[in-house]
Amino acid sequence: MNSDKKTEVNTLIHTQILEINPNDIDMDKLAMAGNILRDGGTVAFPTETVYGLGANALDEAAVKKIFEAKGRPSDNPLIVHIANIEDVKPLVMDIPDHVHVLMEKFWPGPLTLVFPKSNIVPSMITGGLDTVAIRMPAHPIARNLIAMAGVPVAAPSANLSGKPSPTLASHVVEDLLGRVDAIISGGNCEVGVESTVLDITGEVPMILRPGGVTKEALASVLGEVVVDRAITAGDEKHLIPKSPGMKYTHYAPKANVVVVEGELQAVVNKIQQIQQEKQKTGMKVGIMATDETKDKYDNAQILSVGSRERLETITNNLFRVLREFDEIGVDIILAEAIERKGLGDAVMNRLLKAAGNSVERV
Ligand code: AMP
Ligand code: MG
Repeated sequence: MNSDKKTEVNTLIHTQILEINPNDIDMDKLAMAGNILRDGGTVAFPTETVYGLGANALDEAAVKKIFEAKGRPSDNPLIVHIANIEDVKPLVMDIPDHVHVLMEKFWPGPLTLVFPKSNIVPSMITGGLDTVAIRMPAHPIARNLIAMAGVPVAAPSANLSGKPSPTLASHVVEDLLGRVDAIISGGNCEVGVESTVLDITGEVPMILRPGGVTKEALASVLGEVVVDRAITAGDEKHLIPKSPGMKYTHYAPKANVVVVEGELQAVVNKIQQIQQEKQKTGMKVGIMATDETKDKYDNAQILSVGSRERLETITNNLFRVLREFDEIGVDIILAEAIERKGLGDAVMNRLLKAAGNSVERV
């Protein structure tokens, strides 16, 4: 029988849901989650970027469960999360001076640093690379959980591979119920997009993935910082990203996404034109607008990601809005581009990936 086959391939396990208020943390519940991690289980938890799916980073069998639960390709390495700056030492070969400055300034927070790895880091974590990506999250539930687990915690985003990252516990439940040991329900993730991944192993620090810490903020501390060309190259498919995860389709809702980029009024006009064309063919159209433009559209499913004046609101809303379009069940999402500066770099990176690089320039 079909359903038996499904169970065989993918045995469902019991998932405990632990409600924890981030402003008044129930330490007993958090200790339960910490024990699950220490004992080799998987726990999804909120961080300030997105929800993560954690396992003991030093336990290969535990880490394997993350890849299985998410359906994540094994060559896509995981970020190791720590509770205190000192915890980085055993995981890396050495820490250059300028990196101390970065850690002091941006940790805890949405910055992941790529170091040459030490021997204790299993190669399953690093996808076979000799480097390891490490972050110290700022979210009180994440920090306390990792401290209670007493081990470094490998944690990719807590979504099924390929889907938009989860910024609410309900997103995690939708994707991972029955696939993980516990889910901590702890509210909304403030930043809403993943961490910035910065490679500090070369001469000039290189951004491998734009995220919650902007290029401008890094440059103000480092002076020089470059962006891996492969992640801004769009159609130049021969460039292979240094961050293995960046080569995969990502953040994709069920509907096709088309991003329209250019001067704002021209963008609105173009979206209206595509909307009409698509509706003639019977398609249900979603429009990802901003507060400044949402009233210019009608006769479609229109969701705003927030005001262009407040990019932090847009990052906070982006993945939730992509998932909402799935719930509504549109066939195509026409998304307004956001200006590519500050947090706009991270927003556009995620949007273009969701769109499989399908951009209309006007
Ligand atoms: P996620 O955990 O889903 O936020 O994805 C983690 C991101 O960090 C992916 O894009 C990985 O490719 C990247 N990453 C993790 N470890 C490394 C590493 N050692 N070198 C380069 N990128 C890495
Ligand atoms: Mg992810």
